[in-house]
Amino acid sequence: MIKRYFSFYRFWPLLLLLLFSSGWYLIDKFYDQQVINQQERYLANKGELFLEIANQKIETLESFIQLKSLEDNERLTVLDEKGNILFDSFDPNLSGQRSDRPEVQAILKNNTIGRALRMSPTLNKKLLYIALPIKKEQQMIGILRLAEPLEDFWPAAKTMKQGIFYVYLLLCSLFSLLLYQVLRQKNRPLEIILPVLNKMIADPEHTETIIANSPQWENLYQSINQLSEQMSQNYRNYRATEKQFYYLLEELTIGVFLINAQHELVFANQTLKNQFDLKTKVKLPTPFEELFHDAMFIQMIYQLSHTQPFLQQKLITGSTNLRLDLSLRYFPETQQILGVSYDFTRIHQLEQMQKDFVANVSHELKTPVTSLIGFTETLLDGAKEEPEILTQFLQIMQKDAYRLEKLIQEILLLSKGEGVTFPEEEVLLIDFFQQLITRYESVIQEKELQVELKGEPTLTLSTKLDLFYPIFKNLFENALNYSLAKGSVTICFEEHPSSYLFVVQDTGIGISKEEQSRVFERFYRADKARSRLVGGSGIGLAIVKDYVARLEGTITLESYLGVGSRFEVQLPKTLKDHS
Ligand code: ADP
Repeated sequence: MIKRYFSFYRFWPLLLLLLFSSGWYLIDKFYDQQVINQQERYLANKGELFLEIANQKIETLESFIQLKSLEDNERLTVLDEKGNILFDSFDPNLSGQRSDRPEVQAILKNNTIGRALRMSPTLNKKLLYIALPIKKEQQMIGILRLAEPLEDFWPAAKTMKQGIFYVYLLLCSLFSLLLYQVLRQKNRPLEIILPVLNKMIADPEHTETIIANSPQWENLYQSINQLSEQMSQNYRNYRATEKQFYYLLEELTIGVFLINAQHELVFANQTLKNQFDLKTKVKLPTPFEELFHDAMFIQMIYQLSHTQPFLQQKLITGSTNLRLDLSLRYFPETQQILGVSYDFTRIHQLEQMQKDFVANVSHELKTPVTSLIGFTETLLDGAKEEPEILTQFLQIMQKDAYRLEKLIQEILLLSKGEGVTFPEEEVLLIDFFQQLITRYESVIQEKELQVELKGEPTLTLSTKLDLFYPIFKNLFENALNYSLAKGSVTICFEEHPSSYLFVVQDTGIGISKEEQSRVFERFYRADKARSRLVGGSGIGLAIVKDYVARLEGTITLESYLGVGSRFEVQLPKTLKDHS
């Protein structure tokens, strides 16, 4: 638009120049013609006058020349009816044929006047010739030819023409100036508005204002200013909404992505990047096949079309091993694909854990119950009559009943406290652990274990005892249970700037590397036979892990088979969540 506008400005002086030059060309031609016509008329009148005075007598015409009735440079030639020179005022001795001259030819062809502007071979000058017939009683008896050199009348005409040219030039300049002013006036708003519009396009966020004092275009300028203000406002609103929308997408816990018509990934929120293990600063747009390598995912993208604009499928990602519920929608107008991926790995795990839990609980309950039923049946069938067997069976049945009780207590402990607020209590740590050790005195003596307690005697901790106690009861109980006779168990506690560190260490059987991550699962038992022997259910460490998490702490395990195990619990000094 701007280019066209400026090329027009460059073009129009050329157009004017062309117009003015062709105008001058026409004027020039017309003027010259007029001068020649006038001179012709003058010569013709003069010739007719001569003919009239001479009464059509050729001899009398000759006497006109002698009388010097001709002006200095005028030439009079009389020819006979065939075009032969009879006499000539320039050269009295001139003779010969002149019937080939155009002016003479015109008369010979019965025209009333013959004209020609041409070079005279006799005088070597450009002359204006006029020929008239000399008639006697309607019969042509000769030809009178008057000629005048161009240089006689042309200089005067030329001076006059120059004057006309200057006037014409002045008029043209004035006209151009006027035209330029009119055009400028007409294009003034365009000159002012166009750059403003361009700035608006280049930077729509910025409000452009036209400050021009022109009553004629005031309304237009005001409208443009309003438009610019509205546009920048709308653009700012749009940008703000876009930003909010972007942050919202980034914050979403479901993955969102957009693939364009060229099958390039143009947008992916952080959740999606995590789900597919993409770099946070991945360069976009990038062909999606360079980023996603799951065959099912790629297949789904290619399956989408006008006829199948929506697809939903569950898949397990190869890169992160997550279970995703993927929904894809194809937009035929833009050929874009919008994808939403929901990570249901945790839900799946929980479902699985719930299933396992129910199966394990029923299995664990079934064992002592079956045993109890078996022994009661045997006793009722008559074994109760033998006092020795009765005592032995009752002892086994009591052990089973205790085991059943312990199991039920542990299951209750595990599900305890969801949403319950526990009171915080001040605990003197040395007392707490000494009491714990005392409770297990009989086992310690039975296995001849060395138990050591290390820690600042005055160190206290404000904690939720209902959660704190089961953690160390289980860890200590395990340390004792999985220690071999004459082994040693150490309990340490120390204060750190923002936390407390507790260590329960034993020199027992240890846990293999592969099983270390699994021992915290519910009902998982590393050494099943031994665990069962010591009355373990596989719930203890699950409770420990759960309660440590509820106290906003962390637990780590270091263990080597046949060497021993070391459980480290780190608890913060202050709880963020006081529920
Ligand atoms: P359990 O009631 O069977 O002891 P836990 O959840 O407390 O269940 O422990 C899970 C498993 O971890 C146990 O069965 C045992 O194999 C292993 N384990 C726990 N603590 C120790 C330890 N201190 N030394 C060796 N193995 C241990």
